[in-house]
Amino acid sequence: MSEAFVTLVTNDGYALGALVLAKSLRDVNTTRKIAVLITNEVSEPTRNRLREAFDVVSLVNELNTHDAANLALLGRPELGVTLTKIYAWKLTQFTKCVFLDADTLVVQNVDELFDRPEIAAAPDVGWPDCFNSGVFVFVPSAATFEKLAEHAVSTGSFDGGDQGLLNTFFDYWPTAGPEHRLSFLYNMNANQSYSYKPAFQKYGHLVKIIHFIGQFKPWHWARTSSGRVYAQTQEAPTHSEFHVQQWWNVFDRHYSTSAP
Ligand code: UDP
Ligand code: MN
Repeated sequence: MSEAFVTLVTNDGYALGALVLAKSLRDVNTTRKIAVLITNEVSEPTRNRLREAFDVVSLVNELNTHDAANLALLGRPELGVTLTKIYAWKLTQFTKCVFLDADTLVVQNVDELFDRPEIAAAPDVGWPDCFNSGVFVFVPSAATFEKLAEHAVSTGSFDGGDQGLLNTFFDYWPTAGPEHRLSFLYNMNANQSYSYKPAFQKYGHLVKIIHFIGQFKPWHWARTSSGRVYAQTQEAPTHSEFHVQQWWNVFDRHYSTSAP
């Protein structure tokens, strides 16, 4: 039985996130494999970096596949990056997987997630009747992939992203049993800890996965010569400095002498 953590990288920017994510998983001694889906735009030097950090680097190329669903998807190029995530269901060499966005950081071992069924995820902070699609447990299956692709063509995504697609596909999630619902500790929105500080002060030490939701990612922050992060841009960064520093600490531990 083979199980894996899976992430997605469609360009060199997000690759930075994925590299740090992979190291964070190794740091907490996961016993599972770590896989990354990449697309054609990822440069060769970046691919080499990813090959070093991940057990599996899987090139996703819609144009080279021939099944009916893929052909239908080709007629909907605007769904682009969103749909790339569903290719995770094609990793059928694994019996179960945990998908993690490239902008997540694992700070405690989460191998127990593999005891959960498809689909298991945490509520979205903005609309808790939807699950946040940055962290979820799923079961790879060619049949499910086909159905997801058909669903994408027939229904589309109500938010233009993968979350709007996956929530209408797995529409049983809000009323499914507790085994389908992950604690916020597995998908802690780094913005939220900032806005509900007392809860973070009480429960923050229990957090297992930090999720840097939003356009401004940890790798966009500037740093002083001593490595301390600081916000340099006019667009207010929404994540707490504490968590961004945690992300950079993992980066420094593994990449400071060989910056990706
Ligand atoms: N992603 C990517 N390239 C992109 C946008 C997104 O590879 O241009 C992948 C990456 O794994 C990312 C995930 O899709 O973590 C979801 O996007 P993002 O995390 O930016 O969304 P948010 O969590 O901020 O809503
Ligand atoms: Mn994300």
